[in-house]
Amino acid sequence: MQNFGLDIWGDENYLIKDGKIALNHMDNPTLIEMTKTIRDRGHKGPLILRFPHIIKKQISTLFDAFDSAIEEFGYTGSFNAVFPLKVNQYPNFINSLMSVASPYGYGLEAGSKAELIIAIYKTPIGTPITVNGFKDREMISLCFIAAKMAHNITITIEGIGELQTIVEVDQEFNHDSDIVSRPNIGARIRLHSSGVGVWAKSGGYSSKFGLTSTELLEAYELLYHHQMLDRLTMIHFHIGSQMGEIAPLKKALREAGNIYADLKRRGASSLSSINIGGGLAVEYSQHKHAQERNYSLKEFANDVVYLMQEISTNKGVEAPDIYTESGRYIAASHSVLIAPVLELFSQEYQQESLRLKEVNPPLIEELNDLFGSMTKANAREYLHDGLDHMESLLTLFDLGYIDLEDRSNTEILVNLIVKRAIYLLKDEDSDELKRLQSRIQEKYLVNFSLFESLPDFWGLSQQFPIVPLDRLDIKPTRPASLWDITCDSDGEIGFDPKSPLYLHDIDVKKDEYFIAFFLTGAYQEVLGMQHNLFTHPTEVIVNFDDDGNMSYDELIEAQNLMDILDDLDYDMEDIDKRLKELIESSDLIDDAEKSAVLSKLYLYLSENSYLKTIQALDNKG
Ligand SMILES: *Cc1c(COP(=O)(O)O)cnc(C)c1O
Repeated sequence: MQNFGLDIWGDENYLIKDGKIALNHMDNPTLIEMTKTIRDRGHKGPLILRFPHIIKKQISTLFDAFDSAIEEFGYTGSFNAVFPLKVNQYPNFINSLMSVASPYGYGLEAGSKAELIIAIYKTPIGTPITVNGFKDREMISLCFIAAKMAHNITITIEGIGELQTIVEVDQEFNHDSDIVSRPNIGARIRLHSSGVGVWAKSGGYSSKFGLTSTELLEAYELLYHHQMLDRLTMIHFHIGSQMGEIAPLKKALREAGNIYADLKRRGASSLSSINIGGGLAVEYSQHKHAQERNYSLKEFANDVVYLMQEISTNKGVEAPDIYTESGRYIAASHSVLIAPVLELFSQEYQQESLRLKEVNPPLIEELNDLFGSMTKANAREYLHDGLDHMESLLTLFDLGYIDLEDRSNTEILVNLIVKRAIYLLKDEDSDELKRLQSRIQEKYLVNFSLFESLPDFWGLSQQFPIVPLDRLDIKPTRPASLWDITCDSDGEIGFDPKSPLYLHDIDVKKDEYFIAFFLTGAYQEVLGMQHNLFTHPTEVIVNFDDDGNMSYDELIEAQNLMDILDDLDYDMEDIDKRLKELIESSDLIDDAEKSAVLSKLYLYLSENSYLKTIQALDNKG
């Protein structure tokens, strides 16, 4: 895994240049140069870089795949897409998305009132808005207001109750009005087939959402009865996120296609589109054997277009316009989280820490010789000798024959021998070596919160590609586990011998070392929890003009300590008053020093929670 699986998950967005990970765009700027520039401006701690050119690429790739399929099959319907806001509502993302989306008529999908306001605010008039999820009267009224603003909005009903409310709200809005204007109505169907994977609950009979066949017929009759059948334009389904296989989608397409054709033949003449929801998967894996997706975008698009063509031809109805709501596919790759390594926890096992004496116990002398004379040819034998000597030495310690310094020398030397053996035998794939790796695991303390920035790792064991920003021309040999800075033992990405991560042996006292977590642009940001009161990291948009000049725009610094407490609705004036009082009334501070202490305190309050310095390491954070 010399390239950290870049060929598996990277999708040609990055390349390795002079040992550094760089954008495969314009002049191939390296991520480490971006990171250092922003840190030099005083922004320490973890950092989110956003790349609008990657969002643009995802949108254009999606549209191109469907447009090609439509051309290839001579399909008569159109292709349309909306972005589901729940995947990432951050303004720096949405603003970037909408600025590259306009040539495609790419709209937004909302699942709550607040998301609906974003959709109404950001979607250009005429570009589609779809509204899913459970809705009350107020939310439905908001959709009618959007329609009155001339928005092209479709309310997807999840149940008959919602449809009844729509009929009532319609009378309220359009009864006495000269200009009648209404949202379109879509019907989400409860699929017989269900999805696969951890998110499969979104589809299938036990799904939270959608109308059964009986309810669909009832809905049809209700609309007919109220002369609103002309509003029914869309059939919708969503089989779940991160769909690893294509088979469940094909089943769902057949089901939805036949429902569409049946309703159309029954008399729903305005019915003109099928919305296939999201679910298009992202390849997160850094290891070939653990790949998460078994189909290509081309296959996905071809299957959708082909099946819709086949069903509508067989049933003699007009082919539907196709809508997708892919979110993960559009957003995941646009951002990267970069966090500095603060410390390595097995540094005590370094050669410099040895305390060899004038005269050492013979077995220790021997360990030292073994370590000094290891070669590829003798590595395995010396490794076994070393492990054997260690057992004897630990027994000697227990019996009181050697002292604590000898024991420390033993541990260091054996650790060095194991490390060197693994390095020398790195081309061999043996179980013994794999077992030994977990023993010399290096724990990297990283300045970020896993709960805030990778919640799906915590909640669903979702893997994300992890790559150091530089030294990629040097083979990493340390089996790594990553610790975040929360004081929660779940805040760890442990070493997994089945999908191992190796990082470099570095001395953080001398060198900076940054870890990048890729594909974090979908779901992670809003799902992130402020556990321990670590907040959304500092973020910046990396833009390029046509000449390739790079700029860092819309930098938003992570919240400071006072803002965090304010968010929790603490009484900020009272905190301020109490802190001042404590300094004022303390006999342990000289009066002359009091104002200096107070200003120091205020400085810290104006900064964020992430670590700035640790122990002797100035400026590492
Ligand atoms: C979550 C959701 C999506 C997005 O799914 P992705 O897997 O991110 O593409 C689309 N449509 C609906 C209705 C959803 O709930």
